[in-house]
Amino acid sequence: MKPDTEHTSTRNAELFERAQRVIPGGVNSPVRAFRAVGGTPRFITRAQGPAFWDADGRRYLDYIGSWGPMILGHGHPAVLEAVQKAATDGFSFGAPTEREIELAEAIIAQVPSLEMVRLVSSGTEAAMSAIRLARGATGRSKFIKFEGCYHGHADALLVKAGSGLATFGNPTSAGVPPEVVQHTLVLEYNNIEQLEEAFALHGPELACVMIEPIAGNMNFVRASVPFMRRCRELCNEHGALLVFDEVMTGFRVALGGAQSVYAREIPDFQPDLTVLGKVIGGGMPLAAFGGPRKLMQQMAPLGPVYQAGTLSGNPVATACGLATLQLISQNGFFDDLSRKTRKLVDGLVAAARAEGVPFSADCEGGMFGFFLFDALPQNYAQVMKTDGARFNALFHGLLDRGVYIAPALYEAGFVSAAHTDADIETTVQAAREVFRTLS
Ligand SMILES: *Cc1c(COP(=O)(O)O)cnc(C)c1O
Repeated sequence: MKPDTEHTSTRNAELFERAQRVIPGGVNSPVRAFRAVGGTPRFITRAQGPAFWDADGRRYLDYIGSWGPMILGHGHPAVLEAVQKAATDGFSFGAPTEREIELAEAIIAQVPSLEMVRLVSSGTEAAMSAIRLARGATGRSKFIKFEGCYHGHADALLVKAGSGLATFGNPTSAGVPPEVVQHTLVLEYNNIEQLEEAFALHGPELACVMIEPIAGNMNFVRASVPFMRRCRELCNEHGALLVFDEVMTGFRVALGGAQSVYAREIPDFQPDLTVLGKVIGGGMPLAAFGGPRKLMQQMAPLGPVYQAGTLSGNPVATACGLATLQLISQNGFFDDLSRKTRKLVDGLVAAARAEGVPFSADCEGGMFGFFLFDALPQNYAQVMKTDGARFNALFHGLLDRGVYIAPALYEAGFVSAAHTDADIETTVQAAREVFRTLS
């Protein structure tokens, strides 16, 4: 792939101009606007396998995969066929369908902590509903989240840490009244001492601890095994629920999600509630939350916790999700995906080392992250030590060479089954060229 720094993206620029007249910032989700990295967002026209094309006809190897869902790559024939058939049969009925049962069964079959799930349309909705359920089931209001973890944009979750452990959070968005986040306690990720202190202060009032077990919204940071073990113990001791937000990691880092990764290290480990999205919809708007029967029976219409959705369990979305889950549940799927992702990460580390660029990277299953410094970070403050200007140079250098990674340094990356070994090698070579310009 040739560097293309001279390339002027005329059609992309025109579309961006036009978009900004009718859509705030020209985008329907902020990170797409390239604000962090500068430049003109690429307007995508079509995708196939591991790649997509922009409005100027340029091809990019896609390491975002719609922020995770496209684990099979784009346009997998079996998924396409399932979606086309479902669309022909009807877009939406507002009445139950057999496919919702099939999808619920397919999800539950892979995740031992789940006995029941409720299907919804976005991760935001699923996370918000899981918090409501945790509060409803425990009769408590307060909950813990961690700095750098993203759980969607429900009001109570748009919060940053207050001034101390005794005070609760402050809103991170205009339009969120302080009273709405007064029950949200924000702690540092992987900080056991702080977690213990918080439980000592607020234990009897805590409904739940919500966590991204492998955080993908601060690039890629694993909760340490001791930290996770302590989360579980403290929740048990104090009658709080442990809620895993696996919207990103579910069916992405392993078939059983990040919880199956921790269960290898911690005997009998399970969260109480799990939030899913992204991969389970295969690129369609679909998400879910679930847990043991006794908790899920608290949901309407069985129990007192209200939750509903006009398009929940949508027939086309469930067809897409089901076809996706069937394919990724086949023997060896995750072995191969993990091998390719590992190959990418090892290749990037070696290329950076060869060019004398400080670099670290990690991956699990088909999800990866990298940092422009040597040691892997443990929390958000450490992630934020990345040199933004250097990251932007890397981002644009790769983009110019036809490799599309997330346009912000606090996002994870994703490999799909459609990425070939040759695609990975091309990517590593492109990165090496860019590293040379950075060193
Ligand atoms: C993407 C994401 C969400 C939000 O999902 P949406 O479908 O964008 O609302 C929530 N939690 C995590 C961990 C995510 O990665």
